Amino acid sequence: MNVLIVGSGIIGLITAFELASAGYRVRVVTRNYEEGASWVAGGMLAPFSEGLRGDMLDLALGSLELFPDLLGRLKDLTGAEIFHRQEKAVLRLVLSEEEEKQFQSLAGEYAQRGEVVEKLTPEDLKSFQEELGEGVRGGWIFPREGNVDAEALMDTLLVAMGLLGVPVEIDDIREPEMASGEVKGLKGLKGTYSGDFYVFATGAWSADLLGVPVVPEKGQILKVRGISPRMVLYSSEAYVIPKGRYTLIGATSERRGFDSKPTLQGGALLSTGALRILPPLKDAEFVSLRAGFRPSTPDGKPVFELGTNYAVLTGHHRHGILLAPASARLILDYLEKGIRSPYFDLFSPQRWKATVP
Ligand SMILES: Cc1cc2nc3c(=O)[nH]c(=O)nc-3n(C[C@H](O)[C@H](O)[C@H](O)COP(=O)(O)OP(=O)(O)OC[C@H]3O[C@@H](n4cnc5c(N)ncnc54)[C@H](O)[C@@H]3O)c2cc1C
Repeated sequence: MNVLIVGSGIIGLITAFELASAGYRVRVVTRNYEEGASWVAGGMLAPFSEGLRGDMLDLALGSLELFPDLLGRLKDLTGAEIFHRQEKAVLRLVLSEEEEKQFQSLAGEYAQRGEVVEKLTPEDLKSFQEELGEGVRGGWIFPREGNVDAEALMDTLLVAMGLLGVPVEIDDIREPEMASGEVKGLKGLKGTYSGDFYVFATGAWSADLLGVPVVPEKGQILKVRGISPRMVLYSSEAYVIPKGRYTLIGATSERRGFDSKPTLQGGALLSTGALRILPPLKDAEFVSLRAGFRPSTPDGKPVFELGTNYAVLTGHHRHGILLAPASARLILDYLEKGIRSPYFDLFSPQRWKATVP
C-alpha cells in the first residue's frame, strides 16, 4: 500500500516512521520541512503540569508509554542518542495560593485514577533544585512526566526517512481532489500526487486546506547556555528546560496570525518569568529567540478524522510532541488491523459542525 503524508512536522514524520517501519511504501510531501512548530517545541511530555484531564489525559498517558520504545527503535536505525528523561523529569512549581488550590484539586483527580502525584513543600523543593526564587511557594511532581529534545528528535526522524527510503518532497499542497467522499489525488503548486491512503498532518496551516477550525498560536522560546536546572522547572510564567547541551526558556502564547518575528517583548517576558523561578539564570548566555505556531483549536483538543482512504491528524495545540506517538499509532492500528480508534469520534471535527443548525 502506498501512503502519502502531507506535512513533515513531528506528527507527519512519526507517522511516516511507524508506517515505513511496518513495511508500507510511504512518501512525505511538505511545503517546508523547517517551518513546523515541532522544531522549536520545548519537548516537555507533561500532562499534569499542563493540567490535562479526561480524554486528553488518557491519550497523553498512552503516548508517554510509547516514547521509550520509539526512541529505542530510532536509535537502532540511525545510531542517534536523543536527549530524553522520563522519570521525575518535571517540577511543577506554584507561585500563588490560587494555583496551589488548582493543583491540589488536579492531584486529587489523578489520585482517583490511581496515578501517584507528590506534593512538595518549599523544604522538599530544595532537594530537587537549589537557589529557587523566593516567589516559589511549593511544587508538585508527577513522576511519569518526561522531557525530550524535540529538535534532535526532528533531525533524527529526517535521517530515518533517508534510511527507510521515504522521500520527503517539497511542495505546497493546495487542494485535495475529492469524489464520493474519497481523496482521488492532491494538487500542489509543483505537481500532483496520489496514493492508496492519505494522511494530512499540516499543523497550524490546516484550516485552508481541510476546512477545520485550527488557528496559529504563536509561541516564542529562548535558547540559552551555561546555566541549567537539574530538571524541568515549570511555572505559570515560564518554564526552564535543560537539554544537556543547552537550556530552553518558554514560551509565549500570542494570537498574531502567521507573524513569525521573535520580539523584544517576547524575550523580556520569558526572561522575567524564568528569573523569577531560577535567579542564577541571570548569567546564562543568550543563544537565540525563535517562534513557532501551535495548531490551536477552540477547545484545545486535537482534530482526528478518518475517511474512506484518508486521515487527518492536526490541532495538537500545546501537546503535539507529547501526543505524536499515540497519534501515529492510530493510523498504524487502522491500516494494519482495521481498528478504528474511539479517538476518531472523540476528537472528530463534527464536534463543531454539530452545533451549527
Ligand atoms: C514555542 C513552542 C513550545 C512548545 N512546547 C511543547 C512542549 O513542550 N511539548 C509538546 O508536546 N508540545 C509543545 N509545543 C506544541 C508542538 O510543537 C505542536 O503541537 C507540534 O509541533 C505540532 O506538530 P505538527 O506536526 O502538527 O505541525 P508542525 O510541526 O507545525 O508541522 C506542520 C508541517 O506541515 C507542513 N504543511 C502545512 N501546510 C501544508 C501544505 N498545504 N502543503 C504541504 N505541507 C504543508 C508545514 O510546512 C510543516 O512542515 C510547542 C509549540 C511551540 C510553538
